[in-house]
Amino acid sequence: MSELDSKCPFHGSAPELSSDAAAEAAAPANSAQPTDSSSSYSLMNPTRRDAIKFLVGGAVVAACPSPIAAMQGSPAPSAGAASSFSSEINKICHMVRDGEGFQIPAPSAQVETVIIGGGPSGMIAAYRMQGRDFLLLEKEPRLGGNAIPEKWNDLWYATGSAYNANENLKGFAMELGMDVPLIQSVDACIYKDQLTPEFWKGGIAKSNYSDAAKKNFDKFFKDMKAMNLDKLTDAEKAKLDAIAFSDLIEPYGPEVKAWFDNFGPNNWGAVTEDTSALIGAEVVDWVGGLEEGRYTWEGGLGRISLVLEAALMKTSKEKLQRNATVIQIEQKGDKVLVTYSQDDKLKTVAAKAAVMACPKFIGKHLIKGIYQIDQEHADAMDEMRYQPYLVVNLCYNSVVYNGSYDTNIPAPCVMTDFVVADWVSQHGNNKETKRPQVLSCYVPRAETQRAALLKDEFCVSLGQKCLDQMDVWFPGSKAKAAEVRVFRRGHPMFLSAPGVTTRVAPKLRKPMGNIFFAHSDTEGGVTEFATALQAADRVTKEVTAYLGKKAARESVRVTVG
Ligand SMILES: Cc1cc2nc3c(=O)[nH]c(=O)nc-3n(C[C@H](O)[C@H](O)[C@H](O)COP(=O)(O)OP(=O)(O)OC[C@H]3O[C@@H](n4cnc5c(N)ncnc54)[C@H](O)[C@@H]3O)c2cc1C
Repeated sequence: MSELDSKCPFHGSAPELSSDAAAEAAAPANSAQPTDSSSSYSLMNPTRRDAIKFLVGGAVVAACPSPIAAMQGSPAPSAGAASSFSSEINKICHMVRDGEGFQIPAPSAQVETVIIGGGPSGMIAAYRMQGRDFLLLEKEPRLGGNAIPEKWNDLWYATGSAYNANENLKGFAMELGMDVPLIQSVDACIYKDQLTPEFWKGGIAKSNYSDAAKKNFDKFFKDMKAMNLDKLTDAEKAKLDAIAFSDLIEPYGPEVKAWFDNFGPNNWGAVTEDTSALIGAEVVDWVGGLEEGRYTWEGGLGRISLVLEAALMKTSKEKLQRNATVIQIEQKGDKVLVTYSQDDKLKTVAAKAAVMACPKFIGKHLIKGIYQIDQEHADAMDEMRYQPYLVVNLCYNSVVYNGSYDTNIPAPCVMTDFVVADWVSQHGNNKETKRPQVLSCYVPRAETQRAALLKDEFCVSLGQKCLDQMDVWFPGSKAKAAEVRVFRRGHPMFLSAPGVTTRVAPKLRKPMGNIFFAHSDTEGGVTEFATALQAADRVTKEVTAYLGKKAARESVRVTVG
C-alpha cells in the first residue's frame, strides 16, 4: 500500500481496512487487465465470456499534475497511473494535508472576492456575484463537484446528486431557464429479493416482511410524526440532535434499523449509530419518495450544474479557473492571499474576501494559522466526518427495469438503492424495451474503506457485485450489460452525525474575518444541492454586506485623509 493510500485523506489517522474490505481490495492482480484507452481505464470482466467493459473514474491520486518546480525539497512524483475516466484530482490536496512546504509567490493579481471550489455552492455564489469582481478556483477540470452528469450511448446518467423536492432549488432551476420534470413515482423496495412497488404508500402490507415487522414500521412512523418536530424549541431540537438515531429506533426492532442502515448512508452518509436522532426523526416526511413534487433530470441534478456553468461562461468566462487547486489561504492586513496551483505553477491572488466553497476536510488545511485565528471554528471543522461513496452505473443494451424511479434495499446489500437514469423521459414506458438503459446504483462505503477505493480492483469488485445482484433480481439482465461505470469519491458526503446540525454547523457558518464559508457542509441537516443553494445565498449576503461596510470605511478614510 502506498503512502497516499495508507493515510486517511484529511483525517490524519490511518484507516484500517475491515477484513472484508481488505479481502476485496486484495483481489488477485490477474483478475482484471487494465488497458489504456485514450480516455478510460478499462478492465475486462473476468467472469463473462462476452466482455463487459468496466470503467473506473473519480479520485485517482496518482494521475494528476503537481507543482514540482515550487515544492521545497520534495522528490519528483511517480509516473502515475494510466489516465482514468473522469478522474478527481487529489494529489495536490493530499500534499497540503501532509504539510508539504510550498514556496508561496507574492501576489500577482488582485480581485475583490476569490471563491474556492466550483461545486454547486461555489458556482451559485459566483452566479449571484456576476456583476462583481470575483475569481472562482476549482481543482478539477470541470465544475459541478458532487453534482456531475455523464453520458453513455447518448443517455445521461448521474455520478452523484440525483433528485430533490426543494421549492427554492426548483425556483433557481427555473430562473436558469430550465424545465423541471416531476418524478411522480413512489419508491419501490426490495426485501429478501422480493420487489414491492410503492413501498411506503401501502406497498409494505404486500411485502414479505413479517407481521411484527410491519407493525413496528407503522408504529415508528406514527411515533415520529407525533413528535411534531416543527413545534420543538431550539433546546429540544438540540437535545434530540445529541442522541444517536440507533437509540431512538431501538424499540422498533431490527428490520427498522436495517432499513435505515442503508437509507442513511445513501442520503446523509451514516448508519443509524452515526446518525443524529433529529435527522432520523425528520425522515418520515420524505423517506422513500413520499415527498410531493420531487423532480430530476436525466443525469440527475448535475444537469443544473451544466446549465449554471453555461450561464457563467456567458458572463464571466475569464473569472472561472479550472485545474486550479488552492493550497493556502492567508490573512494579511485587510487582505486575504489565496495561493493556487495551476499548470504546474503556483500563483497568489490578493483579495478583499474569500469564499470557501470547498469542504472542511480540505478547508481546515488551507487556512494558515487557523487554530490561532479561531480555535473553536477549527475544532468544529475537525469534528466533521465524510463518507466515501461509489456510484455504479450499469449500462444495458435494453431495458432491465422500469417500475419506479428509485428502489431502496435495506441492509445488508452492496447497494442502498438504484434509480432509472432516464425515468423522467420514459416514465414507466414498458412498450419499447429495446432501447438502452442505465441503472444508477448507489454504493456508499464505510469510512474504514476509504483507502481501498483507490484500488481499481476493489471498485471493479463492487461494480461486479452490483451487476450480479441485479441479475438475481432481474434474471437475464447481466446478458444485456454492455458497460459498468464506477465513479468513486473519497469524501463526498458529510455524516449527519449527532450534534452536527445544532452544535457544530453554527460554528462552521461563522465568518473568520474576511473568509466566508459556503460549502453545503456548513448548513447541518442533510447535504443536498438545495443545501448548497442555501449556503451560497447566505454567503453572498454576508460578503456583500462585508464589502459594503469595507467600502464605506475606506471612503471615510479617503475623505478624512
Ligand atoms: C453519491 C451522491 C449522491 C447524492 N445525491 C443527492 C441527491 O439525490 N439530491 C441532492 O440534493 N443532493 C445529493 N447529493 C449531495 C449533493 O451532491 C451535494 O450536496 C452538493 O454537491 C454540494 O455542493 P457543494 O458545492 O457544497 O460541494 P461539492 O459538491 O463538494 O463541491 C466542492 C468543490 O470544491 C472543489 N475543491 C475541493 N478542494 C479544492 C481546492 N483545494 N481548490 C479548489 N477547489 C477545490 C471540489 O473539487 C468540488 O468541485 C449527493 C451526493 C453524492 C456524493
